[in-house]
Amino acid sequence: MAKINKNKFKQSFETKMYSLYAQSINDATDEQLLNVLCSVIKDIISKKWVDNKLDSQKEVYYFSIEFLLGRQLKSNLLNLGIENVVRESLKELNIDLDNLINAESDPALGNGGLGRLAACFLDSMASLNISGHGYGIRYKHGLFEQKFINGYQVEVPDNWLTQGGYVWETVRPNKAIVVKFEGNVNLIDKNGRLEVNHTDYLPIMAMPYDIPIIGYGNNSINTLRLFKSEVLSRDFGPLTVNARNSYGSYEDALKYKYYAEEISQVLYPNDSNYAGRLLRLKQEYFFVSAGIQDIIRKYKKKKLDIKKLNEKVAIHINDTHPTLCIPELMRILLDEEGLSWDEAWDITINTISYTNHTIMTEAMERWPKEMVKRLLPRIYMIIEEINKRYVNELEERKYDHEKIYRMSIIDNNDIKMANLSIVGSHSVNGVAKLHTELLKKEVLKDFYEHEPEKFNNKTNGIAHRRWLISANSELSDLITGLISEDWKTDTNKLKELEIYRNNKDVLEKIGEIKYSNKERLAKFIKEKYDIDVNPNSIFDVQVKRLHAYKRQLLNALHILHLYHELLENPNFDMEPRTFIFGAKAAPGYYLAKCIIKFINSLADKINNDPRIDNKIKVVFIENYGVSIAELIIPAADVSEQISTTTKEASGTGNMKFMMNGAITLATLDGANIEIFDQVGKDNIVIFGLSANEVLNYNKFGGYSALDLYNSNRNIKRVVDDLINGFIPNMEKEGREIYDSLITYNDEYFVLRDIENYIEAQEKIDKLYKNKDKWNEMALINIANSGVFSSDRTIAEYAHDIWFKGCEGNE
Ligand SMILES: *Cc1c(COP(=O)(O)O)cnc(C)c1O
Repeated sequence: MAKINKNKFKQSFETKMYSLYAQSINDATDEQLLNVLCSVIKDIISKKWVDNKLDSQKEVYYFSIEFLLGRQLKSNLLNLGIENVVRESLKELNIDLDNLINAESDPALGNGGLGRLAACFLDSMASLNISGHGYGIRYKHGLFEQKFINGYQVEVPDNWLTQGGYVWETVRPNKAIVVKFEGNVNLIDKNGRLEVNHTDYLPIMAMPYDIPIIGYGNNSINTLRLFKSEVLSRDFGPLTVNARNSYGSYEDALKYKYYAEEISQVLYPNDSNYAGRLLRLKQEYFFVSAGIQDIIRKYKKKKLDIKKLNEKVAIHINDTHPTLCIPELMRILLDEEGLSWDEAWDITINTISYTNHTIMTEAMERWPKEMVKRLLPRIYMIIEEINKRYVNELEERKYDHEKIYRMSIIDNNDIKMANLSIVGSHSVNGVAKLHTELLKKEVLKDFYEHEPEKFNNKTNGIAHRRWLISANSELSDLITGLISEDWKTDTNKLKELEIYRNNKDVLEKIGEIKYSNKERLAKFIKEKYDIDVNPNSIFDVQVKRLHAYKRQLLNALHILHLYHELLENPNFDMEPRTFIFGAKAAPGYYLAKCIIKFINSLADKINNDPRIDNKIKVVFIENYGVSIAELIIPAADVSEQISTTTKEASGTGNMKFMMNGAITLATLDGANIEIFDQVGKDNIVIFGLSANEVLNYNKFGGYSALDLYNSNRNIKRVVDDLINGFIPNMEKEGREIYDSLITYNDEYFVLRDIENYIEAQEKIDKLYKNKDKWNEMALINIANSGVFSSDRTIAEYAHDIWFKGCEGNE
């Protein structure tokens, strides 16, 4: 691995301090020390960070509108294998490495699971020696910072770039790319070949900022290339002969500047609702066009045959936000490379693969035809042609009109991005077994029947290096002490832990480590919120985006139920519990914000009620993100994965908890099913409607929340509390939640599942009373979590999708 000894390191560190800041180490701030350290590490890796290796290996390009990286310093040190040398050297210079680790900003360039998945995949691609790179957007402002004021969510702009940039990035002006918006397109017949003339367009510069992605222990360094949007500098003149003159007047120049810079200004704070906004479409085409042009430029520089692109390049689109990769690649192959439609289409399909992330129709992207036509005139023409040919193909199969309309890419008003993604790629995958089955049998049934060979499952995974080795080093060291280090590169080896399932010492040790992680979190909660939580209580955790389908409300109503039980009977037998929440709500999602207010008001009431003798504590931790997740997850006893069955495509939070020895309390949804399959029924607690029950209710009706409310005392009691003033300061919000349950018939079956959930929680309570048994369950969970490493997921993508048919890939 990286060769560096203490003396050499200290010398580089001091030299760098002088060259960057012209001052001594003693006078430096933590920020400066961090900059210097990162800069030294960048020097260490720089020689290995080569741009591309096209001639040796197929390159994979992963397009994602979000990358939720988390802090990089610790994980880079781990992957380079130099954490100890660096820690000790810094200590000799009187610097505490942990201070610097915590001083790094956490780039929140994503909302939740989808963006975090992209980050875990980058880590795994590098660690598996796959030359795989990310393309995305360098948002000036990532996801908002969340604060609570009087229990309400308040959004503060995220400023991850305040210190004049990001410590890990390198800007590459010589690789900037021009992306064209708007204008007019004329097709000119030149001796039977169509020439495309795009005039009066607005040229936007995509400036690449590269972040190194370091593989674990293998010297492999890939790149995450994020594009910032800028005005075009006039040096690009010759490339833009037909561009609109955007500098005509001072006013024009200002407008142009605003237009350009706005594109990468801010991340949309939304991961499952369609943001129907022109700016979002601009963002999508901006990074897609820049990325595809970048790929083709690199490819051509190698003097490779454009007709063999798919033999050297795989392009993967993470959900439909990068779907314009399909028409953009077509555009370049047709208009710039002069290929025929059939040639270009063949290459495009064979190069591109697509992951679907949701079955919720409201989250499926659609773009108004007129909007696309105006913003991206050439791209629109190509999509029209793709649609025309596809519809012809469907008509030849004699499908009925309704089916053809459903499958078409363009309908009366909109372009359907999922349809375009399926038609224009060679592989469509879901993200967990149930999800893929639902795609095949329900949501994408028509497409599956038409082209079954395209469909496959790739159950999500997580970077175990970040979520176990780095976030829970005590547990990681215990594991290594028991079964040697091999599990770090082959997580299936975690299975070997099972031989310790009856070993009292090992079980006790697991309990002690959990306790110490809980103490660490309790200390954080005390310092931040002045709430005393008892590390001996059950830490029951639900952290994830706030969304009705994830059912934080179910959790909260259960807490309210328990509270009543305690008030009615002070001797009510229960293990003390600490309920921990972390969740951001999309700023425009009113019901989600009401649920936050409800939980905060409930917490206020319960935490300050001496009658219940500290049996329950409720803590809502602000500003949930990767860094906070790394603190919370290792401290969890219970992992709440309680989505309405069929709604959570996979989940990845569930995997992080399991790997850290929490017991999953879950519906049989998404990857929870696969966790169940791994650990068996005795090591997980399951409740709630089955997928078929939910599907049947959705299709045939038959559910009445009001009937349940009228007939069930427990339900009535907690639902009434939403509007009767029992919990102060949430009149309006309580009413909104009440209406969602009763007036609008509880779309997510919260009340339908609550009795079952209460029983499941009682089971958790009983299980926790037997500590040895509990720790054994934890051990079984850890031992069987290996399959959820994203190394496994990425190996499957590589084998079944990206390198399929390549030499040496059987
Ligand atoms: C893993 C992760 C998620 C996804 O959590 P789910 O429970 O799968 O929704 C969201 N946000 C952050 C910060 C994460 O680390």
